Order: sequence, then structure tokens, then C-alpha cells
Amino acid sequence: MSSDLTFERDQITKAVKARRDWAVNALSQLVRQPTVLGSEELGQRIVAGLFEDLRMEVKIEKINLADIKDKPGFGPTDWQLEGKHNVVGIHDPGKNAGRSLIFNGHIDVVSAEPTRLWSSPPFEPRVVHDEEDGETWMYARGAGDMKGGTIGYLWALHALHDLGVEPASKLICQSVVEEECTGNGALSLLEKGYRADAAIIPEPFNETIIKAQVGVLWFRVRVLGMTTHVLGAGEGVNAIEKSVKIMQALRQLEAEINEPGNIPDTYKGVAHPINLNVGTINGGDWQSTVAGECVTGYRIGAFPGESLHAVMDRVEERVASVAAGDRWLKDSPPQVEWIGFRAEGCVFDTDSDFGKSLRNAHKQWRGNEPEQLRCTATTDVRFFNLYYDIPATCYGPKAQRIHAVDEKVSIDSIQRIAEVMCSFVQDWCKLRKRA
Ligand SMILES: [Zn+2]
Repeated sequence: MSSDLTFERDQITKAVKARRDWAVNALSQLVRQPTVLGSEELGQRIVAGLFEDLRMEVKIEKINLADIKDKPGFGPTDWQLEGKHNVVGIHDPGKNAGRSLIFNGHIDVVSAEPTRLWSSPPFEPRVVHDEEDGETWMYARGAGDMKGGTIGYLWALHALHDLGVEPASKLICQSVVEEECTGNGALSLLEKGYRADAAIIPEPFNETIIKAQVGVLWFRVRVLGMTTHVLGAGEGVNAIEKSVKIMQALRQLEAEINEPGNIPDTYKGVAHPINLNVGTINGGDWQSTVAGECVTGYRIGAFPGESLHAVMDRVEERVASVAAGDRWLKDSPPQVEWIGFRAEGCVFDTDSDFGKSLRNAHKQWRGNEPEQLRCTATTDVRFFNLYYDIPATCYGPKAQRIHAVDEKVSIDSIQRIAEVMCSFVQDWCKLRKRA
């Protein structure tokens, strides 16, 4: 069968539009599952069903710690990792008339707490048309980051099916766990041998193409104080108050890193590229007891090309210098624990064959070049680019308030992504009549 089947724009437009109700329903079904860390299973089952609907071969791939724990980019955890499931859908036409492709999306979402601040329950999808911007939005935790993107590429594949065609090259669809904390899910599939000529992760970055992303490290600082009854508070040492001193010193470090002279060319012009976040704090045990222990959870960024060990050293030195100047902490030094993300920064060559093909597909539909994003967060594209020589980038829908209260994704934008993906798959994988 001819491998150069092509379609006109309006044929694709119609086929995609006809699948809109399917897409809204599938996304609704997916966001109803609160797939936060440790609760991904039911969401993964739904994705497996969505892959099956496209007649892909579905594989449930367990994470084996032994396969990945010594690999670059692995993020150590102190939560259950062994045995968690990634889901893979494989379309294999036998030989490649074009080039092979991976679509990757993560099933995990971040916590929706405090849920009472949401305008409507976070795991109950709410679709609203906004007269002002003309877009139809779906509100839900994970609608943007990134179940909407996953639905976007599946939408495109359904539209192609409806046109009577399918990719004429191997296509691997992946739904991974652990993207929001380590990236170990994506790493595990790469280590199991799932490779291709390129990979797209439709993260919700507003129809832009990622050309650089920062690295990310997670760490905790554990401070021990000395408990006393508050009636003799002067004899105790308050671990919470000591932790605040460390927090202030790390904020100072963050400011220094972001000074204009310290920003490399890749991130020149990006406002405040390296963010430190105090994400969690657990300290003390009783309101009338001087707090004996405090653990603060942080996230810090790193520039592409910057060694994570250098960043770790800077953080540890800063904590040590606070301790050195403190009568209590110098004898009871705070412990810095590196659990979670060990994500290096990376860059993507938007002028590669793959980059050009994706940019062309966007341009064909939107009439202009896609914006090239220098992202101040990490994504799983780093594994493909840095360690497995697979060009990978993000190209996904418009979303707002991801990780925040009232997260929402534009359904119209997902539809636009689906159209562009039809053209991209047509160019990159080539098409054949459905088997
Ligand atoms: Zn994401």
C-alpha cells in the first residue's frame, strides 16, 4: 500500500471535529481518577482501555528498581516504587515506511489540596465556555498537566483511523508514573528497550515547542532541636525556628543564582529561571512543647549543562554555614537528604529533522512558527535527549494554573494539537491504509 497517502487540511479538520465528543468524554473519565502519587492504578487502567480502542497491543510494564537504580537521572525515593505500572500501547506495522515515534504522557497528578479553595470539586470535570477568550475550558486537577495532552494525541490517532489510515511506522504510546517527583517511570520504559526515532510529550505549554528546560533537585533539611515544656522554654531549642534561619539563607542563595551575571546564555532574558520552593514543612508535635524536630521539603532548579553535584554542594555549604554560625546547630548539624528529583537540565535542537518536521506541522495549521520555550520546570524529555540519544520535546495544549487551584485546559487547544499531530504523524511516520 502506498506510504505517501496524504490528506488535505479540511479533511483533517472535519475528522478531528467529529471526534470532539469522544475526546471530552475520554478526558472526563480520566480526570475523575485522582491519580496522585501512589494512586495511579485506576487511571492507568483507563489509559490501557483507550490504547485498546485504537487496536494497539497493550503492555503493562512493571518498574523494577534493580533495572534503573544505577542509571543516570534516577531519582531515589522513600515511597513505594517497585512494582508500579507504566502502560504501553504499541502500533507496529512490521516495517517503517517513515520514522518511528513515541508519544509519552504521565498519569500522575499533584495533590489538589486545599480542595475547599476550588470553585468546584477538583476531580469532577467542569466544562465552561469563556466568552472573553472564546475558548471552552475543562476545569479539573490533571486536565492540563497532563491528561489533556494524552487525549490530544489519541484524538489525532482516532481521526486518522476515521479517515481510514494509520501510521506506516512503529508508534509507541506511553502512560508513565512518577513524572511529578522523579521521572523513574519514563526511565524504566527506556531501560526496558522502548526506543524510537523521536518522542513527543504533550505537556501543557500552550502550543509551544520546548527548546530548553531547567534541571530540578528535591531535598529535605532535617533539624533537631531540644524539647522542653514551654514553662522552661529558655532551656529548649526550637527546631522550627532554626529551620526558618536555614530557609532565609537558601532564599539568599536563590537570589545569587538568579543575578543577571550568573545566568547562562541559554536562559538570558528569562525572568528568574531558577526557583527555590519550600513545598512542605513538618515540625513540632505539641503547641505547649518546644519543637524538637522539623523537616522542610525543598525544590531547586539548575541550568542545562550545570552539574547537579555542584548545585548539591552549594546547598549543603549554605546550610553548613548557617550551622557554623549558630551555637546549637554547630554541635547538632542539620541533615540534608536528597530524595526525589535528580533531573538535569537539557536543551533540544529545534533545527533537527524532527524539530523541523514538528515546527512545519504547527506552521501549516497556525500560519506562524511556534514559540520556542525555555522552560523553568523539568519534564521527562530529559531522559530521551540526554541518555538515550532520542530527540524529544514537548508540544501540548494551553492550560492555566497547573499545580494550582482551579487548573483548567482549553479543549479547543487540545483540538488544535490533535490537528497538528495528524499532520506531523503524516509527515514523520507516513500513513498507510488501515490494516
Ligand atoms: Zn506534567
